[in-house]
Amino acid sequence: SLTIGIVGLPNVGKSTMFNALTKNDVLAANYPFATIEPNVGVVGVPDPRLAKLAEIFDSQKILPATVDFVDIAGIVRGASEGEGLGNKFLANIRESDAICQVIRAFKDENVVHVDGKVSPKDDIETINTELILADLQTIEKVLPRLQKESRIKKDVAPKVKAVEEAKAILEKGDTLFSQGIVQGSGNEELLHDLHLLTTKPFLYVFNVDEDELTDEDFKAEQRALVAPAEAIFLNAKLEADLAELDEEEALELLQSVGQEEPGLATLAHVGFNTLGLQTYLTAGPKETRAWTIKKGATAPEAAGVIHTDFQKGFIKAEVISFEDLVETGSVAEARAAGKARMEGKDYVMQDGDVVEFRFNV
Ligand code: GDP
Repeated sequence: SLTIGIVGLPNVGKSTMFNALTKNDVLAANYPFATIEPNVGVVGVPDPRLAKLAEIFDSQKILPATVDFVDIAGIVRGASEGEGLGNKFLANIRESDAICQVIRAFKDENVVHVDGKVSPKDDIETINTELILADLQTIEKVLPRLQKESRIKKDVAPKVKAVEEAKAILEKGDTLFSQGIVQGSGNEELLHDLHLLTTKPFLYVFNVDEDELTDEDFKAEQRALVAPAEAIFLNAKLEADLAELDEEEALELLQSVGQEEPGLATLAHVGFNTLGLQTYLTAGPKETRAWTIKKGATAPEAAGVIHTDFQKGFIKAEVISFEDLVETGSVAEARAAGKARMEGKDYVMQDGDVVEFRFNV
């Protein structure tokens, strides 16, 4: 499955946040016998629709979609020059499908900042610099050979051009992601086999003081620093406290600081989205479940997530939108009202589709 690597300077609150994340580990809750790596947190993506469906179908359990977060501990500054530890740090980032940087914005004088001052802008630059330098090294290793090759093989020319353009962006100090060159998009195809770090989608978590959670001007300033990447604002210590409370107490604490949901819930949503994922829903007496698919997946591809045989033997999908199902109250009523659609193999799955697949075995 796709993973989001958590990075950041020392002392910004990564461990505090990661520990709160693993307290919400749905793997541990739903699959007690699964082996869980200590640096991986499998976090449920909150979806209130699931409880509603479980009610309609009288389901025994609810399985939300999940996002995997990997705590990429280790050195940051000098990683691009590093042997050993630096290499491991970069290799871990290379294996992630998106990068989540935790940034310190909280002021606490008792917590030392490695650079002596709290400055989100500088911290973002420090990390970007290491990733940019690592990408430039990768490019400098392959570019001369590609240029030579293109003198003999004309079809290599577009790739040389793409690599040279990437190099120019990086030399200006920009990440490729910030310039719209992102893994999975068309303009990254020619660079794909280079496994560049800064083509990964980025997202940012600002670890802020509680009063900053509702400071819209402050948040707008920080958002501007990281656009087009998404910014999430949370207080890591508060998240750790929330993870210890039952639902009602947690809600009370959240309201006292002007929040509607835990920051980690927002992080799960935004992370899921940043990875280019969406869900569809299945429901029955055994379980109500959100299944994870790529945005734009077709009905057979969606069926394949449940079982490869479902994809191979795909005949049709019976689809009812969540809203229609809730409005009519049952599958039978939805069918009677003409709200159940039979979709074929070209159907592109939509958010909120409640599905039953028909297939040959
Ligand atoms: P890491 O090095 O990035 O993993 O940072 P830690 O999670 O270990 O946190 C470093 C220190 O900052 C610890 O003493 C935490 O208790 C403290 N800390 C973490 N988050 C917050 C926060 O939101 N506010 C304050 N005041 N302190 C925090």
